[in-house]
Amino acid sequence: MTELEQFRAETRDWLDANCPLSMRAPLTPDDMVWAGMNIVFGSEDQMLWFERMRARGWFAPGWPVEYGGGGLSPRQARIVEEEMARLKCRQPQFNLGMWMLGPVLLEYGTDAQKAEFLRPIAEGRVRWCQGFSEPNAGSDLASLKTSARREGDMFVVNGSKIWTSYGDKADYMYALVRTDANARKQDGISFVLIDMHLPGVTVKPIELISGKSSFCEVFFDDVRVPVGNLIGQENAGWTVAKSLLQHERAAMSKFSEGQAPSHDALAVAKAYLADAEPVWRDRLAAVLMDAQAFALTHQRVKEAALAREDVSGPASIMKLVHSEQEAAKYELLMQLMGHRGLSWEGEMFTQDEHDICRQWMLSKTFTIAGGSSEVQLNIIAKRVLGLPA
Ligand SMILES: Cc1cc2nc3c(=O)[nH]c(=O)nc-3n(C[C@H](O)[C@H](O)[C@H](O)COP(=O)(O)OP(=O)(O)OC[C@H]3O[C@@H](n4cnc5c(N)ncnc54)[C@H](O)[C@@H]3O)c2cc1C
Repeated sequence: MTELEQFRAETRDWLDANCPLSMRAPLTPDDMVWAGMNIVFGSEDQMLWFERMRARGWFAPGWPVEYGGGGLSPRQARIVEEEMARLKCRQPQFNLGMWMLGPVLLEYGTDAQKAEFLRPIAEGRVRWCQGFSEPNAGSDLASLKTSARREGDMFVVNGSKIWTSYGDKADYMYALVRTDANARKQDGISFVLIDMHLPGVTVKPIELISGKSSFCEVFFDDVRVPVGNLIGQENAGWTVAKSLLQHERAAMSKFSEGQAPSHDALAVAKAYLADAEPVWRDRLAAVLMDAQAFALTHQRVKEAALAREDVSGPASIMKLVHSEQEAAKYELLMQLMGHRGLSWEGEMFTQDEHDICRQWMLSKTFTIAGGSSEVQLNIIAKRVLGLPA
């Protein structure tokens, strides 16, 4: 047995012994444990699974041990992911800090910043939100206007952000701010970390059609942020932001691996297919084949990343394809379910049917979040295919 095979066997045994059975059931949005200062567990098992993975450093298996990670090599970290997927273990916690900010800090942070911010992320003690979009800066993100004026060793931040997911629950925000209004728009932006509890920060939830609210508007009124919270160079935040968006898109293309709620199309469809016309079977087969092709391509991209090949192009493609495929899958399931797909609460239909209806709505948002499909197509045309702008 090679060392890696040995590691795989040990990992499998450990996960099997430590992941409670209830933490291997399919994930629903209500089962997601968001890490942070005000963490809420829905069950004993959730807490147990969280504590065990944290103690092992496996929230971030590939980060250095000194920052609270597992200190594993990229191949070993990949094995942990694979074995978790094989046993259908849920992610023990969710945190934008883990998927997006952490990798950026490892690349661009100073030693002091890594020491201050990485461990609380790796231990699930601080919840992060993303402050990029503004009312007139979504797809055209570089047009953002929230300003940060330098005053000694402080930035004074003024302006507002919108569509900030869970801004009302976050402890910290990583934000893009304008530090030079006269430079070319991409060259006057900085990337800063803002404590959401500072005076002058106001968060207003935006109510959604579902009655729930995950989006917020965040307002900054003379908020004083230490210059030590600047990541990378002043006015070079666009480079840091692009790197972060790549991590966001990579995370979004992993949603089929138990990282987010998703339904097994075949299992759901079986209940509705019995009397259905053959044309539905054709459409279902097409969805399943696309999903299989995606999974294999995703596997290949991950192997390329482990071999240190540049996978920035595929990352944009994977996010685009995956979010469109999930949307198409739920569209099909909704059509198959007929009138039973039209309700997201109440007692007339089952919880599964409500979940699918909600997931159908949510699937549409994934084609917008992290850069809309149209914008992804533009990026692919320009950066991957090298077509003229
Ligand atoms: C579920 C979800 C979570 C989100 N969470 C966050 C968050 O936590 N933090 C945050 O900062 N933001 C967040 N966002 C915001 C998200 O990044 C923006 O919605 C997205 O970038 C699109 O910007 P916009 O909404 O301003 O749309 P617009 O930019 O106004 O786009 C409107 C339409 O025009 C199209 N379009 C725009 N420009 C072009 C172009 N050049 N070529 C072709 N088509 C174009 C778009 O594709 C879209 O269909 C979230 C969004 C969603 C849906």
